[in-house]
Amino acid sequence: MKIFDSHAHYDDSSFDEDRNKVIKELKHNDILGVLNCGASLQGAIESVKLAEKNDFFYAAVGIHPEYAYTVNNENILKIRQLAKSEKVRAIGEIGLDYYYEENPPKEVQRSAFINQMELARDLNLPVIIHDRDAHKDTLDILKMFPQVIGVVHCFSGSIEFARQCLNLGYYIGFTGVVTFKNAKKIVDVAKEVPLDRMLVETDCPYMAPVPYRGKRNRSEYIEYIIEKIAEIKEINPEEVSYQTISNIKKLINIK
Ligand SMILES: [Zn+2]
Repeated sequence: MKIFDSHAHYDDSSFDEDRNKVIKELKHNDILGVLNCGASLQGAIESVKLAEKNDFFYAAVGIHPEYAYTVNNENILKIRQLAKSEKVRAIGEIGLDYYYEENPPKEVQRSAFINQMELARDLNLPVIIHDRDAHKDTLDILKMFPQVIGVVHCFSGSIEFARQCLNLGYYIGFTGVVTFKNAKKIVDVAKEVPLDRMLVETDCPYMAPVPYRGKRNRSEYIEYIIEKIAEIKEINPEEVSYQTISNIKKLINIK
């Protein structure tokens, strides 16, 4: 089955031992494309390197809310420089994460998020949004930038929140969570979101779908996400594969 992984972290240290081997296998196994997303400045640098080295890799550059303290003028300038590579197709992952208490204070996160949304608007690039337990504040900031679109990755909100994101022109990103036995909320969201606004992603090394739940994730496993979405929507998996590939190509401007 043909797959485009719209959100991966192959720069993660869990791939240090066998990264080149894994990437070679992905290509061999019908993975048409991978958008590797930076989480830190270093992750962004590594994402660009991976994308420049591997023809089917693309990069998103940005700083995750966990590292919001590092979003300063100097580092914004560095991200702007990185974005000059023609393999950089998005700003991300950026957003808000109120789940972990040890994350930077909300105010620091919001300001870092807004600064990077401004960068995306200036560079005319889509955004990869990370939102955990911060749906309302995320939405308020997305609304400040009506010219910008992107994807709310690893979507964890309600149907109502999904509708609001769709209204703003955003795509909704589905991970292995949709295959989990106790998944109800995200299954309901998958019923509601039109196929032409869905993206599929690993968020690897995390979020592996059933039957690999808890293991190191990789792009081939998206097959199980596609099959689950096809089952929910009562359509053919090939149709889900075809449409999600076309969606991500449109979003990040791949011919
Ligand atoms: Zn991620």
